[in-house]
Amino acid sequence: MCPRCLERAERVTEGIEDDSYECPSCGEGFGIDWSHGQPDRPCWPTTAREIEEARLTQACLKGERSED
Ligand SMILES: [Zn+2]
Repeated sequence: MCPRCLERAERVTEGIEDDSYECPSCGEGFGIDWSHGQPDRPCWPTTAREIEEARLTQACLKGERSED
């Protein structure tokens, strides 16, 4: 679903660990990254707080991996 207008988005490419979507309503393009595992609940609608928490989690994971 489109993060900007919350309309249904079309999947334009399908990758191994991520998919790319494009919104036919506003033209917003975005990707969904599955590399951390399949979601156990619907991704949308979500809140700005959840997005921020997800970014912090990803940054944390990258930091841990960099020590390998
Ligand atoms: Zn849109």
